[in-house]
Amino acid sequence: MLTVCHLYPDLLNLYGDRGNVMAFVRRCRWRNIPVQVKEVNIGETLDFAEVDFLFLGGGSDREQTLLNKDLTSRTAGLREAIEDGLVLLAICGGYQMLGRYYRTHEGEEIPGLGILDLYTEAGARRLIGNVAVEMLLDNITVKVTGFENHSGQTFLGDVSPLGKVLAGFGNNGRDKQEGARYKNVFCSYLHGPLLPKNTVLADYLITLAMRRRGISGDLQPLEDALEERANAVMLERLLKNTG
Ligand code: GLN
Repeated sequence: MLTVCHLYPDLLNLYGDRGNVMAFVRRCRWRNIPVQVKEVNIGETLDFAEVDFLFLGGGSDREQTLLNKDLTSRTAGLREAIEDGLVLLAICGGYQMLGRYYRTHEGEEIPGLGILDLYTEAGARRLIGNVAVEMLLDNITVKVTGFENHSGQTFLGDVSPLGKVLAGFGNNGRDKQEGARYKNVFCSYLHGPLLPKNTVLADYLITLAMRRRGISGDLQPLEDALEERANAVMLERLLKNTG
């Protein structure tokens, strides 16, 4: 049984980010892979060692401030699980909080968990629009699409980007980097939600979670023609606009 945890589903669910959890779960169930979902809110107990896929969605500055204390109190357990290969997808606000700090427009510094060597500072203008990103998943090049809307600009220290921006802004609109990757932690600015739109990435996360539980082998293919077509159309448009 795989256990999926959506942390702070009420506070971290911008632009339908919950769809990432739904896609992960549906794609498991369509293949008869047993899976359960735990929603964990502020003050509720959670043992990260029991989680196979953790999801942290996006949230506004206000929401990030509201849950900061609770999330910080969980740092040690989360760090340990990450080192142990926990599969984690963190989008936008959730991504920012794994870093060292987030500095708001007002100059307030919201401390992050410091698990990833990166920081975020609110920029003068919001970075909004559709994005195309190229990334390597098990040495296979994959192009994913999504939608970004953030004022925070993230700069990476000693951590790899998730991918290269082909169109859109990505981490900061300057260095063409998008997201961050550490072990089985995937951070991204792409809402969309990301996984329903990008089934290759969704299946890769499922595969990683299963491998960590000692279950290897290929996933049974699903009927993804519609998703693949939507992605191809989106990519074509985005790349034409930048080309
Ligand atoms: N508060 C963050 C920002 O605006 C995150 C927003 C988001 O999660 N979309 O940069």
